[in-house]
Amino acid sequence: MTNSFFDGGPGRTGGMAVERVDQVLGEFSFPLGVERTDLHAALGRVLAESVLADRPVPPYNRVCMDGYALCSSSFGKRQTEYVIHGEARAGEVEKSLLDPQGCFEVMTGAVLPLGCDTVIPVERTTRLDASRMRVEVSELSPGANVHALGRDRRAHDEVLPIGRRLGPVEVAALASLGITKPLVRHRPRVVVVSSGDELVPPQTEPLAHQVRQSNVWGIAASLEAAGLGRAELLHVSDEEATLRQNLTEMLDAFEIVILSGGVSMGKWDLLPSILTSLGVVQILHGVAQQPGLPLWIGKAPKGGLVAGLPGNPVSAMTCLARHIHPLLERATGLPSRKQRIEIAESVQRSVGKTRFVPVRWDLERLRAIPVKIDGSGDWAGLVGSAGFVQVDPGTEVVASGTSLDFYPW
Ligand code: AMP
Ligand code: MG
Repeated sequence: MTNSFFDGGPGRTGGMAVERVDQVLGEFSFPLGVERTDLHAALGRVLAESVLADRPVPPYNRVCMDGYALCSSSFGKRQTEYVIHGEARAGEVEKSLLDPQGCFEVMTGAVLPLGCDTVIPVERTTRLDASRMRVEVSELSPGANVHALGRDRRAHDEVLPIGRRLGPVEVAALASLGITKPLVRHRPRVVVVSSGDELVPPQTEPLAHQVRQSNVWGIAASLEAAGLGRAELLHVSDEEATLRQNLTEMLDAFEIVILSGGVSMGKWDLLPSILTSLGVVQILHGVAQQPGLPLWIGKAPKGGLVAGLPGNPVSAMTCLARHIHPLLERATGLPSRKQRIEIAESVQRSVGKTRFVPVRWDLERLRAIPVKIDGSGDWAGLVGSAGFVQVDPGTEVVASGTSLDFYPW
């Protein structure tokens, strides 16, 4: 396989158009199973079953104000003073008002006593003595302050559709419906691998010629923020035999292998050739984009994804957000993170390649302000940025105020 992205010559142009990459990766699919999860671990997961109401919602005529329950037709007879026949508290069985001219003292959450159809809030009444109260309103409507049985959902109505991502309110809804082990889509097993003999773990004091591994931490954090859970982090050396051995094991153990570094044109950028020799089928190598030209993507023998991201930190994060996240969103059912956003300054297009321009948010004016960085190695320059906007190829300038696609880190 030729390194097609280099065909354009030493100017580092060429590579597959971003539009075409979207098509090619749009066809990439891999099946993910389902599993049951505990409710306390359900946040952020994607529901794999439709959840129905097991009984009407609410399940009884629920009093929704502290006050007095009575029959509104008695009030229609101009009665304003009522004898209190009893009390209905939350958690008590249904009671009955036998005297249609009387009332019940009721608390929020109680079952509305039989024979009553309305609740007057306590602040709209005057307590006359231990057994009597006066209503201080001029009119009364049946059903007021009563959350009627089945008003929100009938029994067997759908409350949560299949594919819904579980946020806080969905978790509460599941609890309310008694679903303590919701069926959710699997999260793929992901390993994020750094490669390069100049790299040391962040806890190691680097020598003068060494740098700390940072990409894998950023990549794993981005995956976690998107709802994919915590990825495994590993490091491999540039030495061929070890690399081959490590990759063989990873391809066996993980559905998604995300590598950073070692896919460019250097003498020790061995990943593409080793991966293909291990049966990974190359899907693309080289994208007409800046940053991130050397991106390599393949399909593992077991059907999983192998992504070889460039080692430069800005390129690695950009390729992940622009090309890998959308693919993972489709596979897992997670919602797309892409948004449209206006840019607060003009940006220049590039001929023949898509630019990805880091931006920070202007939250007051809801605009994206381009962030100037010193090339794709400038990880420090990215601090404070929220993601990047996509600037399609061309010759002209994109005017300030234009809406562009935004991808968060
Ligand atoms: P490579 O793609 O392997 O040629 O690496 C390009 C540049 O990115 C080199 O300067 C590497 O030191 C740097 N780099 C590669 N991987 C990482 C990493 N995991 N963390 C930080 N920098 C990296
Ligand atoms: Mg390297």
